[in-house]
Amino acid sequence: MSECLFCKIIKGEIPATKIFEDEKVIGFKDLKPQAKIHHLFIHKEHTKNLNDLIATDPSQASEILSAISRYADQEKLVEPGYRVVTNIGPHAGQTVFHTHFHLLAGEGRGHFGS
Ligand code: AMP
Ligand code: ZN
Repeated sequence: MSECLFCKIIKGEIPATKIFEDEKVIGFKDLKPQAKIHHLFIHKEHTKNLNDLIATDPSQASEILSAISRYADQEKLVEPGYRVVTNIGPHAGQTVFHTHFHLLAGEGRGHFGS
């Protein structure tokens, strides 16, 4: 999917501020943060949303969630707490059709811009 925005970020064709990378997953800062900490985690394989990902290769879901969990441990976000959100389809407000999980943190309860 060469026209996919997040595939272009993976290939380095569009700049992003990477905050995490392993063999399968990258994490980068959201361009328009809705919380003090707002990052996006994506698999390097293109799928368009969570349902497409599960139908394609469900192990990708645990690879992304494991990356988020490790990042949260590393950044000491677990104790204060953080939120993970994935939007599927237009009614949820999905605007980029490469499966991504939002990590939102750094504010008190109810201040994650939901
Ligand atoms: P969603 O509405 O769930 O599809 O989320 C898409 C997210 O991608 C939004 O929070 C945007 O701010 C973010 N976004 C769009 N373009 C970029 C970009 N080039 N770099 C980082 N984040 C982006
Ligand atoms: Zn893509």
